[in-house]
Amino acid sequence: MQLKDKVAFITGAASGIGKEIAIVYAKEGAKIVIADLNKAAADAAAAELVATGAQAIGVAVDVTSEEQVDAAVAEAARAFDGIDILVSNAGIQIVHPIDEFSFADWKKMLAIHLDGAFLTTRACLKHMYAQGRGGSVIYMGSVHSKEASVLKAPYVTAKHGLIGLCKTVAKEGAKHGVRANVICPGFVRTPLVEKQIPEQAKTLGITEEQVVKNVMLKETVDGEFTTTDDVAQVALMFAAFPTNALTGQSLVVSHGWFMQ
Ligand code: NAD
Repeated sequence: MQLKDKVAFITGAASGIGKEIAIVYAKEGAKIVIADLNKAAADAAAAELVATGAQAIGVAVDVTSEEQVDAAVAEAARAFDGIDILVSNAGIQIVHPIDEFSFADWKKMLAIHLDGAFLTTRACLKHMYAQGRGGSVIYMGSVHSKEASVLKAPYVTAKHGLIGLCKTVAKEGAKHGVRANVICPGFVRTPLVEKQIPEQAKTLGITEEQVVKNVMLKETVDGEFTTTDDVAQVALMFAAFPTNALTGQSLVVSHGWFMQ
């Protein structure tokens, strides 16, 4: 029970990586807030956890909305007596060559990934600082926090930006015992990635199989996808680590696609 009675606010936790982190944290005794744009899916994911004996609620939130983030974090803190862990994970992908990228899509990407990270951080830090029991902030970066790929300009830009935010939170949060770290996964077969396979095949003029083999997994050491559980185990380590010794870091979990 590495997270006994810790309250974890996890964005985008109705699906994919966030959902798996919620499952792993719940097994370790955390009280889970599934914060997602998709309220029905958030409630369903929370109900699945409750059925296993865990404490969990679903809350509706669009992480790009200041009002909604503040309200959702306040609701979560009221329900479970504060916030100990933030996993800022909600994200989407839009792929186009830069010369064809619409400004609206660029802004949408930065809003979800960067505004969302800032707004949830600000709202949760207020609780963590006031509670005086420390805390852990975890950002879902990507190998694209370190590397670029074609067609992903705003995603790569935003994921690099999260590292700057993380380092600043690590410095400001230290005196409150609040740590901040970034997880940088390689490709994980979630709905976000399933959607990209046919899109990239079309844009690059290759088959879906070739996208997986020659684009997504080309640089890995073994041609394997990273799994949601691989990422969730790293999220557990960051959440449970007890001191400021491990803060301001970004850890790549990608089957060796990117080596630091
Ligand atoms: P996913 O599509 O399975 O889940 C994303 C969740 O975020 C969904 O439940 C969706 O409803 C929610 N969401 C989207 N926009 C939102 C908003 N504005 N407000 C609140 N919730 C919102 O995707 P995933 O693959 O699990 O991705 C989760 C995170 O992991 C993202 O930040 C993504 O960039 C990152 N990531 C994914 C991969 C991968 O290969 N899947 C690799 C590296 C990083």
